[in-house]
Amino acid sequence: MTMFSIPKDESEQEKHEIIIVGSGPAGLTAGIYAIRGGADAILIGGYSSGGQLMLTTEVENYPGFPEPILGPELMKRMREQVERLGLKIIDKDVTKINLKERPFKVHVEDTTYITDSIILATGASARELNMPSEQKLKGKGVSYCAVCDGAFFKNTDVVVIGGGDTAIEDSIYLSKIAKTVTVVHRRDKLRAQAILQKQAFSIPNIKFVWNSVISDIIGEKKVEAVKVVNKIDRHENTLNCSAVFVDIGHIPNTSLVEDQVELTAEKYIKLYGETRTSLDGVFAAGDVADHLYRQAITAAGMGAKASLDALRYLQTIKG
Ligand code: NAP
Repeated sequence: MTMFSIPKDESEQEKHEIIIVGSGPAGLTAGIYAIRGGADAILIGGYSSGGQLMLTTEVENYPGFPEPILGPELMKRMREQVERLGLKIIDKDVTKINLKERPFKVHVEDTTYITDSIILATGASARELNMPSEQKLKGKGVSYCAVCDGAFFKNTDVVVIGGGDTAIEDSIYLSKIAKTVTVVHRRDKLRAQAILQKQAFSIPNIKFVWNSVISDIIGEKKVEAVKVVNKIDRHENTLNCSAVFVDIGHIPNTSLVEDQVELTAEKYIKLYGETRTSLDGVFAAGDVADHLYRQAITAAGMGAKASLDALRYLQTIKG
């Protein structure tokens, strides 16, 4: 099963049996199974490859690592494993996917990759608050990644918004850098796992503001404060801070295919069975199709299943 080049028309074309889009745990695991299954596969991973684990600190729930492993280190090892097996990885962004005609087309700069089977593993991105002051102060104190930006706010007061695993993990991480971390959560109970909650509640410089949301972020050139509204008594308070870490969940990265495969009401790729989408030959794995589990290990498992399904599909079209 070999790759061949088609003569140039308006752009370079390259055909493969399976194209995997995305380089998080789902995409890389799909790569391992595709290559080991004997397929001519490539992975297009984006300029900032590695997915959300690149933005996390210690991972202690990925089996095989008795001691916690840093998210970026885990992704580096997954990548090394799949490259050793022979998968070609293209570290560029996909600009367009055409699933309306067969073979499918995946566009990357001047090259068009054509394929019989595609695995969508494009993950999810941080959800934003959607307020003008957030847009104005992005990168000037408004951040979506504590690991990336936390060090800029040494010994200052910072705010974390959200009550899930990400918010609480980030708060614990930031508590070691910042003077105080104030978690503003819209309810009076955290969604985060019990072990993280217990840890956060025991750290003296992490404070909680319950039943509250941010109504505005104040500052011209950098974040200076946030306005916090209590949802029960509508009381508004100003909280001085130098940074706001927005950890309010994620939205699936489906814009490349949204009018071409069926999506759920929340814009995740709709699955039929384990990894099949509404189009034969198009499979999905990881956070782009999973609103429920969203773990590195479940994404990796879905990636393996997607490749096994794609390999089976290739057999059926070969007859
Ligand atoms: P999440 O679980 O969806 O939590 C989002 C949090 O933000 C919730 O507490 C939610 O409040 C709040 N929220 C949502 N929209 C909001 C808004 N507009 N304004 C204010 N607050 C808002 O997202 P996540 O924490 O990023 O976690 C995503 C997935 O990754 C989860 O499955 C999680 O288990 C997983 N994860 C796992 C680990 C780990 O295992 N170590 C680490 C990080 C993430 P409500 O609670 O009221 O809904």
